[in-house]
Amino acid sequence: MKSKKKSDLAVLLEYAGSFKKLTFLGLFLSAVAMVLGMLPYICVWLVARDLIEVAPNWTEATNIGKYGWQALAFSIAGIVVYFAALMCTHLAAFRTASNIRKQGMAHLMKAPLGFFDSNASGLLRNRLDGAASETETLLAHNLADIVGSITMFIGMIVLMIVFDWRMGLACLMAAVISIIAMCTMMGGENANLMRDYQAAQDHMSKAGTEYVRGIPVVKVFQQTVYSFKAFKEAIETYSDKAEQYAVKVCQVPQAVNLTFTEGAFIFLVPVAVFIAPGALRSGNFAGFVTNFAFYAVFSAIVSTALARIMFAASGMMLASTALGRISQVMEAPTLKITDSPKEPKDNSIEFKDVSFTYDGADIPAIDHVSFRVDPGQTVALVGPSGGGKTTAASLIPRFWDVTEGAVLVGGVDVRDMDPHVLMDKIAFVFQNNHLFKASIFENVRAARPDATRDEVKRALSAAQCDDILDKLPQGMDTVIGTEGTYLSGGEQQRVALARAILKDAPIVVLDEATAFADPENEVLIQKAFAKLTKGRTVIMIAHRLSTVVGADKIIVLDNGRAIEEGTHNDLKQKSGMYSNMWKDYNKAATWRISAGEAM
Ligand code: ADP
Ligand code: MG
Repeated sequence: MKSKKKSDLAVLLEYAGSFKKLTFLGLFLSAVAMVLGMLPYICVWLVARDLIEVAPNWTEATNIGKYGWQALAFSIAGIVVYFAALMCTHLAAFRTASNIRKQGMAHLMKAPLGFFDSNASGLLRNRLDGAASETETLLAHNLADIVGSITMFIGMIVLMIVFDWRMGLACLMAAVISIIAMCTMMGGENANLMRDYQAAQDHMSKAGTEYVRGIPVVKVFQQTVYSFKAFKEAIETYSDKAEQYAVKVCQVPQAVNLTFTEGAFIFLVPVAVFIAPGALRSGNFAGFVTNFAFYAVFSAIVSTALARIMFAASGMMLASTALGRISQVMEAPTLKITDSPKEPKDNSIEFKDVSFTYDGADIPAIDHVSFRVDPGQTVALVGPSGGGKTTAASLIPRFWDVTEGAVLVGGVDVRDMDPHVLMDKIAFVFQNNHLFKASIFENVRAARPDATRDEVKRALSAAQCDDILDKLPQGMDTVIGTEGTYLSGGEQQRVALARAILKDAPIVVLDEATAFADPENEVLIQKAFAKLTKGRTVIMIAHRLSTVVGADKIIVLDNGRAIEEGTHNDLKQKSGMYSNMWKDYNKAATWRISAGEAM
């Protein structure tokens, strides 16, 4: 536990970069501030000593005014130095948080695109942001307080020797008991309970987010909160763990801790009573009273220091879990970028014994698949839902990297190419095409930022978007998502196609959408497809077999395996999965026609 704490801190200070020095300076100043803060108590001791010496002729104590001023000066100096210390630690803490954000974002930029399908980028950013600011308390406040408290304990031990060791020990004893109680809450078996408790809390907050995202489904299907088993269970687990933690870990130690934090004098008074007779007999009763006065006043700062340590412990914990979340982001997979990129020779695509398994999945989504698309050919991937079509297509632009085998573009392994060259070569339209909240013009131009207005307009026309532009108030400059402009799924698909057309890449990867199959849109989308794919190498995922009839080659993917390969006519003859799909498709088509006639 201890060594883990240390390494957490080391990791954090690593992020501080050159500001690390400032942290150390802050910690040093915090120690100085604590020493300055202790000096007024010594002034109190001096005042008490003088007074007792001259008692009852109080006016003879001429020095006490001077001590008073000194005490005031030390107090002010202590406050000023503590302020400077916090300035230093805050500067370092803010820089650390901003470095964490920067490095995290820089790392995410290198993650494969597919990573963001399962990890929403906004959520990742929020997490990183939250975690970065959670390290602030530790670096800006807690560390300085820990150093201050340690200084105080060292100071106490020194003062013990200088004044009265028995009363000093009495003060220290309460502090030691309270620290031991704190430590038992964090060590050994209890550390596991603590971790369980925090894991449960983290889990609950994630389940809560899921729940909020699922509210539309709950409403549509008229379900109750209880249908969100995961959330309910997460809450119950949390409440269990919280109770366990409170009862097993905190109950006794926390009670002990709080009792002794506030009660440094618990031992002081009995000890004083105990040694008073001895002091009387030895004739140094004045010294005894002076020391007692000192410790009685001093015990107040002991409890402040202990309270700070307690806050520091929770700051440590907070920072530790935050670091965990930060490292989740930092450990996101990154695409390896080759040092010696090769140039693709042509516009062919080849899968060479490719297998791919998603992170955490047991079975491969693509299982030893091989096929070749010659330049200018159109190859269609078909098969049942979940067969691996989308996965296969997303391996080409390196949304993911293959687990085994290789994907070649122009005869070169995609991993051996400069990612920019690869991206320039491929235009892809996937089902979840992202349009951002900007004008249609900007959305399309994103594919090629140097394109002129005219080129964008032509691409939109080619993608059959004219009717969309006509009905929008500001045509191409209408910002999507404002003033009630909302594009239907089919319309979004066409804008995405315009984007791909504008890109004018020699290879096109298309994941055709099924969801937007209203007849009007379908016809338009087919036309746009035709414009986009003309004269290019195309891999298309088709859900309606009508679109694949003319393909040069059809590959049937089932459970990640390429079970059939050939032209439409070849495959229709065989009695395999494709011929069955074709029969079903025709049946559905006839059914549609006859249903239409009956009306
Ligand atoms: P298709 O496009 O043919 O319907 P997919 O390629 O989408 O099939 O999916 C193939 C398999 O991979 C399925 O079993 C699916 O559950 C799984 N899969 C798809 N996307 C992911 C992902 N992001 N993470 C984990 N598994 C996935
Ligand atoms: Mg799919």
